[in-house]
Amino acid sequence: MEKQTLAKTYDLVIIGAGPAGLEAALQAKRLEINYLLLEKSAVGSLIFDTMAEKKFYHEYGRNTAKLKGALTFPDRLTGADLVRLWRTQAEQERLVLIIDTVQTIGNTDGLFTIKTVTQTYQSRNVILTSGTFENPRKLHIPGEADNPKVAYATDYYGEYQNKEIIVVGGGNSALETALEYCEQNHITLLVRKNHFAETATERNKKDLETAVTAGQVRVRYETVLSEIKQASVVVIHQNGVQEELPFDHIFIHAGYEKPLDFLHACGIEVEESLGGGKPKFDEHFETNVPGLFIAGGLTGADSVIESANQSFEIVHHLFN
Ligand SMILES: Cc1cc2nc3c(=O)[nH]c(=O)nc-3n(C[C@H](O)[C@H](O)[C@H](O)COP(=O)(O)OP(=O)(O)OC[C@H]3O[C@@H](n4cnc5c(N)ncnc54)[C@H](O)[C@@H]3O)c2cc1C
Repeated sequence: MEKQTLAKTYDLVIIGAGPAGLEAALQAKRLEINYLLLEKSAVGSLIFDTMAEKKFYHEYGRNTAKLKGALTFPDRLTGADLVRLWRTQAEQERLVLIIDTVQTIGNTDGLFTIKTVTQTYQSRNVILTSGTFENPRKLHIPGEADNPKVAYATDYYGEYQNKEIIVVGGGNSALETALEYCEQNHITLLVRKNHFAETATERNKKDLETAVTAGQVRVRYETVLSEIKQASVVVIHQNGVQEELPFDHIFIHAGYEKPLDFLHACGIEVEESLGGGKPKFDEHFETNVPGLFIAGGLTGADSVIESANQSFEIVHHLFN
């Protein structure tokens, strides 16, 4: 990859090299913009680290669209293989990438100052694509904190056999965790509502139905987890009835918290939402701070293609 360019002020700084940040950089490169991509760990690191064995589908969450840009994304590749392709693409396209953690984004007279652990950069525009994966939402129930039996992501490596596994959530992540472990374990899926999330894919719902019919998964609708004890959990049904279920492992998929403190510190207005706070942005994904855009998980996008397409649109809106 190229070394940092010597330009004092960039036209565009992109923060985070997940799919949204990569697509932004790929488009900036094509439009010959003076840009810089800052990533704190490695290209696609969060997918690589937490979903290496998971297959990535084009149709996921709300997405049914096609990729508009240049990001390599063959359907149904595992997270690890996909990220390897992205890393190769970043190398081959000689993206201007620096590994460094962004700590603050300031703005004076329309010019952004981006401070990382080691450097300070200036830019006329910023796209923040730092995602939300680092802050899985906790339930804040007794027994949850610092409990080694509680996880917030499927590791896809866990060699669980004949275990009692409780999965919490009604979205794709919860359904996929249940499906991942159901052949060799006993799964109880706790769903708060009386149906799965609207974004749950037909494929996941169909596969789950098959697993339920096969007796591999029990689904408890309108049921919440209320306490985690040593070897059992307490669940409460909507009608108030409490029940204790045995467990060995718990996977909680309650979504992800937006990094609200960081967004506030950047001057980005956040509106209250059911999910606990959502950054405000307009139809071009521009926040209330002129020149500061967000894309990907931070906007609520829940798929690779939606995330990448948002960045495509931002870069072309800004520079085409
Ligand atoms: C269980 C699960 C299964 C999924 N399956 C699919 C699927 O099959 N198909 C699909 O399309 N989507 C799937 N998704 C969704 C998809 O992974 C996300 O929509 C996508 O990764 C969001 O991309 P992003 O670029 O916004 O953020 P991320 O992928 O989270 O990338 C953010 C990047 O920013 C970096 N970063 C963070 N903070 C800083 C900082 N301060 N400074 C510098 N860099 C920083 C991180 O290191 C990271 O590399 C799944 C998600 C989950 C949780």
